[in-house]
Amino acid sequence: MGFKKGSSLGLSNGITEPLPIVLKNDKKGLGKSKDHIKSYNQEMSQTEIDPSQFRSNISTRLEIKQIKSDVRNARNIIEQMDMANNKPQNELWPTRIDQNEDLEESEFDLLIPEMQLKQTMLYLRSVYRYCIYCGCSFDTEEDMENDCPGEAREDHE
Ligand SMILES: [Zn+2]
Repeated sequence: MGFKKGSSLGLSNGITEPLPIVLKNDKKGLGKSKDHIKSYNQEMSQTEIDPSQFRSNISTRLEIKQIKSDVRNARNIIEQMDMANNKPQNELWPTRIDQNEDLEESEFDLLIPEMQLKQTMLYLRSVYRYCIYCGCSFDTEEDMENDCPGEAREDHE
């Protein structure tokens, strides 16, 4: 395999060496494992931080804490509103480890906090016209556009 037998026998003084055998150790393509998703998320979170902005390191840590608490808050609201509207349980509902010990983490649980926040927020805004930062749901799309300053926490400060 990939080995070319020398053909210089007696005809020249050329030295023929066997080609080095390259072992193909390709473990990719075995399907999307959770490790892949995790490392993908890590890459995502790393690329989001501009290395030139060291000053923001501390606030970033605080922001992530804030984001996580916003996500918890949003997931609780989603559960309440879904239940009130007879919607089936979905992965946006809060994960209760104590109830489901064998339950695998959903893909949602593996997302970085920023993505979790985005998904829960968009869900609440599109399905219930609810803004977690305004703390209320709006009667119409128009009301939300007029009265809610934006999708981000910063917009509400
Ligand atoms: Zn708002």
